[in-house]
Amino acid sequence: MRRRRRAYDRPVKTRIVVLGAGFGGLELSSILSEAVGDDVDVTLIDKNDGFVFGYSKLEVMFGRTTAGAVRLAYRDIAKPGVRFLQQTVTAIDPEKRRVTTDDGVHEADFLVVALGADYDFDATPGLVEGGNEFYSVEGAERLAELLPTFSGGRAIVGVCGAPFKCPPAPSEAALLLHDYLSARGVRDRCEISVVIPFGSPVPPSPDTSRALVEAFGERGIEFVSGRRVSSLDPARSVAVLEDGAELPYDLFLGVPKHRAPDVVIAGGMTEDGYVPVSPSTLETRFPGVYGVGDVATIGVPKAGVFAEGAARVVAQSLIATLRGGEEPAPYGGFGSCYIEFGAGLVGRVDVDFLSGPKPTGTFQAPSDAIAAEKHDFGSSRAARWFGRSPATAGSTVF
Ligand SMILES: Cc1cc2nc3c(=O)[nH]c(=O)nc-3n(C[C@H](O)[C@H](O)[C@H](O)COP(=O)(O)OP(=O)(O)OC[C@H]3O[C@@H](n4cnc5c(N)ncnc54)[C@H](O)[C@@H]3O)c2cc1C
Repeated sequence: MRRRRRAYDRPVKTRIVVLGAGFGGLELSSILSEAVGDDVDVTLIDKNDGFVFGYSKLEVMFGRTTAGAVRLAYRDIAKPGVRFLQQTVTAIDPEKRRVTTDDGVHEADFLVVALGADYDFDATPGLVEGGNEFYSVEGAERLAELLPTFSGGRAIVGVCGAPFKCPPAPSEAALLLHDYLSARGVRDRCEISVVIPFGSPVPPSPDTSRALVEAFGERGIEFVSGRRVSSLDPARSVAVLEDGAELPYDLFLGVPKHRAPDVVIAGGMTEDGYVPVSPSTLETRFPGVYGVGDVATIGVPKAGVFAEGAARVVAQSLIATLRGGEEPAPYGGFGSCYIEFGAGLVGRVDVDFLSGPKPTGTFQAPSDAIAAEKHDFGSSRAARWFGRSPATAGSTVF
């Protein structure tokens, strides 16, 4: 039975500091504003001036749009009780719930760390000198310039470490690369390989994995499973896998190794690289401090939909604390991920990570209808978080 909480007795507004305005931070701030905006002082902090959906990076990389067109500006956030500050977090004291930024100090009654996962380029020798990555906006923009010059040879989409964001994304990149090279009339002069550390592209869903492996086969894409790329040798243009095998390449599209942001590690909040939290409440071992999204370890993949789900639980918990009422149901670890199969078709996998003895996933075959659903997914978030109306979004895919 879920317990009821008494209202939080505080004479002034409750100060909630949310670090990171990504999927998790934006969802949390939006819910708090709607439910208790008059009673809270939410400070939402991010070092960037705008938000870009992870999947928009694939659109940028293949030159279908620009980063400017898909960036949602934080200055458009207009929510009662929420103040956005563009600042870089430089220190976190979780015991005192005190945050230092490049522009001041913020004290919190409740602190939510939603700073995502950073990329550890140095962990893969040769990646910076001899490869490219499509996991940052800057990396995707560089590739948008480079890809038009690639007209023959072997392209590798290679994962350099697990866990990594959005496990289907490397498979999507390989399928979209096939389309891109075909449209340019150079596909028959190119080979594509995708290297993934898992035994299958989407381990919790054998049906999804089978569909992706079939799609690779139909398009002549080589699938190398169960190994990560451990280094690149730019002098020989060779990718070295963790078992020592070597794959020559002419173009390397990498997924860099991930890790929690340095500031979170320096704050003493991490174990084995990420922030341990209660899988049901998302609270860290520090009272009143929560970890949401990619920065936390709770046994779900690093993906926006899971960050959102976690943010909803934290929001409900804070609302119950402020207003009194029933504690939220524990975080369920359920999420739906859209998967680009190429030719404009999008599939979907609905995954359930925490409710059963092992993760399970249900596959929805690629279709135009699911492509439209993905479009709605992005525009509904743009509307809820940034007040964008579908009319102003137009045909832009966020
Ligand atoms: C190519 C690609 C495709 C993807 N496709 C999907 C998809 O289809 N579906 C899906 O659900 N997910 C997808 N993802 C994953 C998704 O983008 C992330 O998992 C999600 O953004 C995580 O949300 P978060 O709130 O934990 O962190 P983030 O969204 O990463 O937000 C963290 C925020 O913290 C800020 N920050 C970090 N350090 C500091 C600091 N020191 N000071 C101030 N601010 C800081 C960052 O600027 C950032 O805005 C994809 C990712 C990639 C790269």
